[in-house]
Amino acid sequence: MTKSLFIGGAWTSGSGSRRGNVINPATGQEIGSVAFAETADLDAALRAAETGFRVWRKATAYERYRILAKAADLVRERSEAIAQAITREQGKPLAESRLEAGGAADIIDWFAEEGRRAYGRVIPSRLPGVRQAVLAEPVGPVAAFSPWNFPCAQLVRKIAAALAAGCSIIAKAPEETPSSAIELVRCFEEAGVPGGALNLVFGVPAEISSYLIPSPVIRKISFTGSVAVGRSLSALAGQHLKRTTMELGGHAPFIVCDDVDVDAVSRLGAGIKFRNAGQICTSPTRFLVDGKLKSRFTETFAALAENLVVGDGAAEGTQMGPLAHARRIDALDGLIRDAAEKGARVVTGGRRISNEGYFYAPTVLADVPKSARIMNEEPFGPVAVINGFDTLDDAVTEANRLPYGLGAYAFASSTAKAARLGDEVESGMISINHFGFAAPETPFGGIKDSGHGAEGGSEGLQAYLAMKFVSQVGA
Ligand code: NAD
Repeated sequence: MTKSLFIGGAWTSGSGSRRGNVINPATGQEIGSVAFAETADLDAALRAAETGFRVWRKATAYERYRILAKAADLVRERSEAIAQAITREQGKPLAESRLEAGGAADIIDWFAEEGRRAYGRVIPSRLPGVRQAVLAEPVGPVAAFSPWNFPCAQLVRKIAAALAAGCSIIAKAPEETPSSAIELVRCFEEAGVPGGALNLVFGVPAEISSYLIPSPVIRKISFTGSVAVGRSLSALAGQHLKRTTMELGGHAPFIVCDDVDVDAVSRLGAGIKFRNAGQICTSPTRFLVDGKLKSRFTETFAALAENLVVGDGAAEGTQMGPLAHARRIDALDGLIRDAAEKGARVVTGGRRISNEGYFYAPTVLADVPKSARIMNEEPFGPVAVINGFDTLDDAVTEANRLPYGLGAYAFASSTAKAARLGDEVESGMISINHFGFAAPETPFGGIKDSGHGAEGGSEGLQAYLAMKFVSQVGA
């Protein structure tokens, strides 16, 4: 990973000597390093994005489609190497990394196609001989910031959508997990994306965002990460009047009504909760279970948590890998200790496993008071809270209590109850009676403090388009 920056169509190790260490979270050992961009490199990336935009926006939608479809094929061919890199640097089990890598190819394919459907419209004029058209144009060079929990999937959504719309992009990928990002960018390069249209940098995140966002070259910001960082990047973007897409944290409620198959729903809930060791913005955190089912639901859930095979994601049979960072262990310990002090029951887990690597036991807390920090802060780890409710009104009130509004889940056999939850839970996405988020063709995004804008679906392309109204006489 010597030359990890991709600027103006060339791989470089940058103009400075600063590098970031890359750690395998399953061992805690350093396995490589990544070059950090300095100001001179960011200036070069901005110049490249400016000239790259002029070239790429002139390519026809069909040419862009052909190139992106080729990139998707290359990602598919190399998906095993990409998956291995994700597991090595981020820790998730290989089966999950394979889904992520394969899914990246699907996302590129979908945006490649959708870019051909960036339709405008014609509006009948009040005046004779005048044609009024609305054209969808690429918004301009984009600065994108993607996180480490899905090193490939979060990045590809931004790159594929921006390129499909005809934008150029400077992507700052996560320093902790650079290899799959580098592999991904190579696929676009080899598929024929012209130099400058796609640039990849790593570095000190705050340095890069505070330099790129104010630059007059950049017209659009896309960020995925925590609410706190999203808030500060939004403020900076607002000051410079830049458009933003913000995909921030969540605290997903998972509502279980009294008329469901409690064991089946509990198993499904645990399966979703511990995916990627809970480091998913839509990971269910507050399991709100009808009081009549709560104890059975908790028992089944805890048994599953206790039997999960936790280990190195690269090992055969591992069901949950380590946390991606050492710092997340302290964060989880703090949240669980606080909950227990405030009266929560630690049903299982609540501790680090092994002194090597960043493993944490799948944890179940029950009867957690609202005053506990974990009921208010995103745990971003393998911790489930199970609380009972008396009425559906109570469940909805609790679901909507927090300022977050990203993912939500509801389970009910009664279609009336299911429809009510679908209507009344305040979230950008709700999945009812199954797990159904994040397909390339469906919008993915939040409301309230969880951000704004969507990354998938046709909305994901619209985010990179600006509408131009053209009124022409004699056309
Ligand atoms: P963090 O807030 O330090 O960083 C979150 C992400 O933002 C990282 O990818 C980081 O590189 C980036 N970042 C941080 N400061 C930045 C800046 N000034 N400019 C640009 N990018 C910046 O937290 P963390 O310890 O890395 O992750 C834990 C928290 O982050 C979690 O609690 C979760 O809420 C959030 N997170 C959310 C997602 C998501 O998918 N929405 C993904 C990863 C992390």
